[in-house]
Amino acid sequence: MGHEHDSELSGLGFDSLAVRAGHTRTGEGEHSEPMFLTSSFVFGSAAEAAARFGGSEPGNIYSRFTNPTVRTFEERLAALEGGERCVATSSGMAAILATCLGLLQAGDHVVSSRSIFGTTNVLFDKYLKKFGVTTTFVPLTDVAAWEKAVTPQTKLFFLETPSNPLCEVADIAALAGVARRHGILLAVDNCFCTPALQRPLELGADIVIHSATKYIDGQGRVLGGAVVGRQKEMDEVFGVVRTGGPTMSAFNAWVFLKGLETLRLRMEAHSASALQLARWLAAQPQVACVHYAGLETHPQHALAARQQRAFGGVLAFELKGGRDEAWRFIDATRMLSITANLGDAKTTITHPASTTHGRLSPEAKAAAGITEGLVRIAVGLEDIADIQADCQRGFAAL
Ligand SMILES: *Cc1c(COP(=O)(O)O)cnc(C)c1O
Repeated sequence: MGHEHDSELSGLGFDSLAVRAGHTRTGEGEHSEPMFLTSSFVFGSAAEAAARFGGSEPGNIYSRFTNPTVRTFEERLAALEGGERCVATSSGMAAILATCLGLLQAGDHVVSSRSIFGTTNVLFDKYLKKFGVTTTFVPLTDVAAWEKAVTPQTKLFFLETPSNPLCEVADIAALAGVARRHGILLAVDNCFCTPALQRPLELGADIVIHSATKYIDGQGRVLGGAVVGRQKEMDEVFGVVRTGGPTMSAFNAWVFLKGLETLRLRMEAHSASALQLARWLAAQPQVACVHYAGLETHPQHALAARQQRAFGGVLAFELKGGRDEAWRFIDATRMLSITANLGDAKTTITHPASTTHGRLSPEAKAAAGITEGLVRIAVGLEDIADIQADCQRGFAAL
């Protein structure tokens, strides 16, 4: 027998799957997963080409359809999320777009959390609307509001948890119950937790969406996305990717495969440092409040402790002064990177009200809790003492 097919190993735990799932060795006996940089694949004969195109024989045709490195990534992430199938995409937004194009049609209605990634909001509010799909936005944590927004046309619930930047936590099992009662699919953008900390399918969600660009890569190198769920729905999503073309490249899939191998270790390190920083920030006199589900003072702390394995790497805090103090704080740091990205080994710091949420009207910002004194930190993997010392420079500048 030997050990040729790591993909056939069964009954493995999360960490073993993260390192081994999905890889079938080629005849070369390579240990690390190979990168198949080829746009197309050759056939042994005209008859074989016809059989592949006709679907009577499985196999690769063209890398917009399938690629072995991409498939290895898809099988590994599907195993980690506990889903039947994963479809990889060129970015996180492509994953959300392919999900919507695959599963919705004109006349359908979506209920979405209002606390979602800004570009996702634009996708629903502007582009899907052009094709006759309407969206109602509701508060993430108000289960009754989700149910009240349901119409006979509602086909999809969409949310992110914890939310960005205020770290509100949705009760996935409760919302899955509402969705099931009404025959609606529940999609969870699991970018902030990753399967290392939260597995939405186990809690009753139908679809998990990822921006692999963030923690799955974990080192800020490449863009990618993924959708995980049942075979039936994923067949539709795959059809969109194969036809529309937002395919993940083999190179990026290879980078993400390597990222998955260290995902749990990294997520626990991000979470441990973020918790320590959140506690320290909460004790500073210039801080009005800290938003982080790991703090006992967070309104959904108990839910987050139940639903997640740890609390993640992103936190936000409010300085008592307004924009001026927030900008002074940010500008006084020396190590932290001033960028809106997150999920990187390098700690990032940003002012949501003038960047990620800058498009919102003052009223919308107020409704979403994005105050001018709010600062978001996505805690990286540097020494926590150095991150804290950099924040101390921020406080010293106020
Ligand atoms: C970044 C992000 C996206 C979009 O992903 P891209 O890879 O940038 O397209 C979607 N959802 C969340 C929560 C994100 O943070």
